[in-house]
Amino acid sequence: MNIVMLGGPGAGKGTASAELSKVFGIPHISTGDIFREAIKNGTELGKMVQDYMNRGVLVPDEIVNAIVKERISEADCDKGVILDGFPRTRMQAIALQEMLNESGKKLDAAIELSIPDEDIVKRITGRRVCSNKECGAIYNIVTRPPKEEGKCDVCGSELVTRKDDNAETVKIRLEEYHKNAEDLITYYKEEKQLKSIYPSIYDENSLAKIIEEVKEYLGK
Ligand code: AMP
Repeated sequence: MNIVMLGGPGAGKGTASAELSKVFGIPHISTGDIFREAIKNGTELGKMVQDYMNRGVLVPDEIVNAIVKERISEADCDKGVILDGFPRTRMQAIALQEMLNESGKKLDAAIELSIPDEDIVKRITGRRVCSNKECGAIYNIVTRPPKEEGKCDVCGSELVTRKDDNAETVKIRLEEYHKNAEDLITYYKEEKQLKSIYPSIYDENSLAKIIEEVKEYLGK
């Protein structure tokens, strides 16, 4: 089962992907997480992508495509993957199609989480993430607060704000998203693989509803 999650920054792709990964028992691969980890560890990849990420603009397709190709060829992806934050451009979508074809796999669904920009800004500036990378739980101080302020409910580690989660960078990231989104969504519509979901950031059950919609779409 191979699924891609589409949607703007802060649309809830990370949270939904983590849950879908549990439900279907397949890895959740976030290109943003891979890059953040590389930056933290000071690797070559980290040095290459740091500047793009801090500015909130897209990392070049060649870099992202190579990283995804390598990651999805690992053994734990044999049964499928949930791709979060990839593809972000039509070029990347075509590259993914080729990667899957080459290994005899196929894409089962492109799930779009569609949320108005003004809600995205609210959500991103309130987002807090668990500093423990093994955990990676995501909270929101307004819509999904932890039980104890600043502490992860799951593992107790400190909650932190992502460096690119500030109002200024969010604006740029939204512009970047809209530059490519229409084209990307049209691509998956044409491929008849698109399922659009319209979650409300104020609905406490929105995560459960997203999972139900995805399962229904996939006939699971
Ligand atoms: P995310 O965690 O998905 O919001 O991604 C954070 C940042 O990583 C983005 O603003 C981009 O700079 C970079 N990035 C992540 N995924 C991609 C991608 N598929 N293509 C290009 N840049 C990406």
